[in-house]
Order: sequence, then C-alpha cells, then structure tokens
Amino acid sequence: MALEFLAALFGPRLKLPADQVTRPNAAAKKAAAPHAAAIQATLDKISGLPGIADMKETKRLPRGFTPLFKELLHAVDAYHDALRGPMGLTDAKRPGEPGGCNACFTAPVGVSAIEALNIYRVARPWKDFGEVVRALVELAQEQYKDVQAGATGKDAEKVRFGGKAVQNGRLTFAKKLHACPLLDASTQRCRVWNDRPITCRMQHPISPPEHSLPSHEGFPKSVRSKNLRLPVRAQVTLTQLDKRMGLELSPFLYASVPQIAQITEGQQLAEAGEAPVRMQQDGSVARPANRNVAHAKKFQKDKKKKSRKK
Ligand code: SF4
Repeated sequence: MALEFLAALFGPRLKLPADQVTRPNAAAKKAAAPHAAAIQATLDKISGLPGIADMKETKRLPRGFTPLFKELLHAVDAYHDALRGPMGLTDAKRPGEPGGCNACFTAPVGVSAIEALNIYRVARPWKDFGEVVRALVELAQEQYKDVQAGATGKDAEKVRFGGKAVQNGRLTFAKKLHACPLLDASTQRCRVWNDRPITCRMQHPISPPEHSLPSHEGFPKSVRSKNLRLPVRAQVTLTQLDKRMGLELSPFLYASVPQIAQITEGQQLAEAGEAPVRMQQDGSVARPANRNVAHAKKFQKDKKKKSRKK
C-alpha cells in the first residue's frame, strides 16, 4: 500500500490516451490549413458576439450563438477529415461510435465553456435529462475525490490541472469503468454525437479496441491514439474566451454540465431574443403542440365553423 502511494507520488506520470501528443506530418498540415483558418475565423466571430462576456449576469446565450457554434463544429470536422487521410486514420473508430466506445470509459477533460454550454442546450430537452445530470454529478464528485486523494500541496482544494494529482486521479477514476452518461449503451453511440466535445472528436485510437478499455491489463500504456488537436491559436482563443465569459466552468465535462444546470436553475438555456421555453411540472421541456393532428385546436375550430354553417 505504502509502495503504491509512493509510486503514485514519485513514479513516472502515466498518460491517458487523450493526453498522447501527435504531430501531423507536413502533407496533413497543408491539407488542413484552409480548415484551420475557418476554425479561427468562426472562433473570432463567436468571441465577438455582443453579450458573450455577460452570460454570468444574463444567463442567456448571445443571439446567433447556435448557428455559429454549428459552423465551428463543421469546420472542426472538416479539419479532422483533412488530417485523417494523409495520416492514414480514415478507418480509426473514435469515441462515441460503435467500435470506439471503449474510449468513453475515460471521462472527457479539457472541455471549453462554449462546448459545455452547447451540450447543455442540446441535452436539456431530453426527457431523462434529470437522470443524466444526477449521473454526471455523482461521477464528477467521485472523480474529484480521486484527484484530491493524490493532492500533496498544503491546500488540497487547489490542484494544478495537468499536474500529477489530476493525472493519477483521472487514471484511478477510469479504472473504475464508469461509462460516460452521454453514451447510449444499447446503440454504442454518443447521444450528443453531432455536438460531442472536441476532445472526443480528436481521438483516433489505432491499437486494438479492447486496449482502450481501462480494465485492460496494459491500459493506458498499451493504447496508441493519434490525437488531432486544434491548432494552437484556436486553443488559445478558446482559453481566452473561457476567461472572458467568467463562468468558471470545470474543464471536466461531468462537472461543467451540472454547473450550467445550477447557473440556469435547470431552465433551458435560451439565446437572447428567444421566447422562453415552457417547462412541465416534472422539469421536462414542454414540446410544441402538433397542429396537424386531428384533435388539434385548429381542426376543432374548423369543425365548429362547419357545424354552424349546417
Ligand atoms: S461525450 Fe460522447 S463521445 Fe465523448 S465520452 Fe461521452 S459518450 Fe463518448
């Protein structure tokens, strides 16, 4: 036990698959250059949205955030597609799709505020959103305890992101084999596939799929993952945006989504100028009435008119 503790403190730092560093070759970089420019241009537009830095007070997304964020993810996917070909990664199964879901047992970390806000907005209308948030909170607390267990500084509350305590805590947590609450176990698909975090999008495991399961005896050393990170400038812009927004969201997805639920008091996160979303008593989002069904009010009115004419 004591030896394990000492090894955790002073032993070599184990990298989780998502932390491995991949350097794209020159051909890949060249192919991806226009998409890198598109990512930056879209991030600049998002950063310039009026009210983006006031969200803490307004509790609303700036008007036009959603289409711009979709544009950003589209550019990110195009960037990855352009890199994948020259790097021989077109067949790699990524987290969140069948064949790649073993990577969904390692919690996503390094999620920016705008990504977490978008995921919250997408997931909030789900009927089982309350259960998903409860699962996220439980896992976030467990992960936090695992990180704290390795903290050696005077103030255990303050651990350096990327430091040994966080690395080891993440590994301990992964070994417990909790699937991401956003994974649909029956389909082996990420429920927010189109909106999943960039950290999930960038991972391309090239070792056998079973090696990515944290219970595998060789994990994490036996996993080889090509991680297609965003260009450095884009990463810096995202970090600056996080700071400007001042929401102080955790970089851990399991914690940031519940944090947003707390900020919004569980309400749907609307854009400025959008009509408030109607909530039902059970906390779910009321769906708009389908006016094309036979019992809809507009048909009832028509029926009344017809009966009066007769
Ligand atoms: S967000 Fe989606 S892709 Fe990422 S770990 Fe969770 S289920 Fe997997």
